[in-house]
Amino acid sequence: MQSLDLFQFNRHANSFGAFMTLLDKKLFLFDIDGTISVGDTLFDGTLDLLHYIDSIGGKAYFITNNSTKSTSSYIEKFAKWNIPTTANQFMTAGYVSMKYLQNNFGKGKIYVVGTKSYIKELRANGLNITEEADDDVVAVMIAFDDEVTYDKLYKACKLLSEKDIPYIGTNPDLCCPAPFGFVPDCGSICAMVDNSVGRKPLYIGKPNRLMVDLCVQDSGFSYDETVVVGDRLYTDIAVGINAGVETIAVLTGETTQEEIDETTLFYPSYVFKDVKWLTYCLEKKLVDRTLIL
Ligand SMILES: [Mg+2]
Repeated sequence: MQSLDLFQFNRHANSFGAFMTLLDKKLFLFDIDGTISVGDTLFDGTLDLLHYIDSIGGKAYFITNNSTKSTSSYIEKFAKWNIPTTANQFMTAGYVSMKYLQNNFGKGKIYVVGTKSYIKELRANGLNITEEADDDVVAVMIAFDDEVTYDKLYKACKLLSEKDIPYIGTNPDLCCPAPFGFVPDCGSICAMVDNSVGRKPLYIGKPNRLMVDLCVQDSGFSYDETVVVGDRLYTDIAVGINAGVETIAVLTGETTQEEIDETTLFYPSYVFKDVKWLTYCLEKKLVDRTLIL
């Protein structure tokens, strides 16, 4: 595939809504780390892009598999970047998993491996959560848990071995960043249980399309008007493909141009080197119908 300096249009793959272009997109679903920021540093161009979205009457949501941060801490973090946000603009794996439990298990008792604060939040939202391997448990869920103990895993294994009940994981990520490198994330905690009971969880975070579905429902925009922007092929681009919406890969995080050239499964609709170029092209209307078609 030919590489362009500014961006690429990969119209031979994932070309849903063939007559729509990026100029028709109103709902932008952003990954955070590696896409619009790294750590506490906001990437150049992000503020302009958010202003552009406002100016066209669009809406930005932030979809993240990071379940270690609460929505309020994201709102605070974004306020420091001079980005005013509301709680509904953040779809975290922890939040979407809570919605999934509410929709599927009602008042049924759910055994959860998770932090004290996450379990408190689930209970505050009306869910019947237990930390014991009770007989009447109807589902098991494992979340990111930096307070995980062998006892918690033992109970999860017991329940999943003795009962044919749903097994859910908040997000499939194997590790998450730490100051020295990486530490285990939810996917690695689940792997300990998976290897013991011979089952794998249904993961709720990206690439499960649920996050996209909830954003589309909340915003009122259509799937054709929606685009996912992210730096990882197997989570961000995959979640867009799974939900049937177009995708933009940026090269400021994990994914390289070589990986995009080689992938057969997670081919993005568009590739921009960073959000600054994406903003420039949108503002200058360089991504018009003529160019694409
Ligand atoms: Mg990322």
